[in-house]
Amino acid sequence: MRFLLGALLGLVLGALATLPLLPRHPCPDPLSADTLCLQHPVDVEDVAVQERLSRELASLAERGIGASREELLAGASGHVTVERLPAPTDESLDLPELYARCAPSVYLLGGRYLCPNCERWHVRIATAFAVTDDGLLVTNHHVLETDYELLGASSLDGRVYSVVGAEGGDPEADLAVVRIEAATEPLPLKSGSPVGAPVAVISHPRQRAYTLTEGILSRRYARARDGRPALSITAEYAVGSSGAPVLDETGAVVGVAAVTQALYADEEERRLQMVVKECVPVEALIALLDATQGPP
Ligand SMILES: [Zn+2]
Repeated sequence: MRFLLGALLGLVLGALATLPLLPRHPCPDPLSADTLCLQHPVDVEDVAVQERLSRELASLAERGIGASREELLAGASGHVTVERLPAPTDESLDLPELYARCAPSVYLLGGRYLCPNCERWHVRIATAFAVTDDGLLVTNHHVLETDYELLGASSLDGRVYSVVGAEGGDPEADLAVVRIEAATEPLPLKSGSPVGAPVAVISHPRQRAYTLTEGILSRRYARARDGRPALSITAEYAVGSSGAPVLDETGAVVGVAAVTQALYADEEERRLQMVVKECVPVEALIALLDATQGPP
């Protein structure tokens, strides 16, 4: 839909600056886009994607479809038994190949919530990815802890699915496994990725759906706050990227994006020097999933 980049560019940029998905004010009027034009795998129309997600979530809520926040939190702890996970391969992909292959496994997770400032419904975005072929998606546990009426997942092709339940999770590791009722394309999981390995992230920073960033795995360490294993990467991400897959060059998941930590030169937090991207190691996810991996 190139025309949007031309005649409607100003409109689109204007809308992006005041998306209804952020609790920024004044809150915008609902957008009127009624078409969804995701041209797989590249041309993402943020306004149409978000409008569709917002509309579908409202429809699901009206029909009473989907799990409540309480139900999801209740389900999001403990092991998940899955029959089989896809085996990682040795085939290195260049970044265009990696994006084309992995983006269909990545979902926008939208949480519909009543805005306390304008008393309208907004949608808060996070990221999730498929780990099985039958609808199990992984995201951060803290995504389920935010305020929402119900959650939905939008795929790259624009379909919106209700999140019908949580099947397990590890709040301490910041992982949750939720279900949508759909066939999904799972990403393989690969443990032991070394510091220095190239990585890429596909996520939705501040609603910029399906953004690809790249970097390296820059550190493996025990978190100062609780001693749990963590890894940091140099690939960029931001609010909205929570739950995104950190991919190695074969397209296997080596971590899950979770937190950013801003490092300042001064105590007044005025001189920003560096933003650390702290991720959950995939080993915590593998430990959460009781599964056989790959063909027997
Ligand atoms: Zn509002």
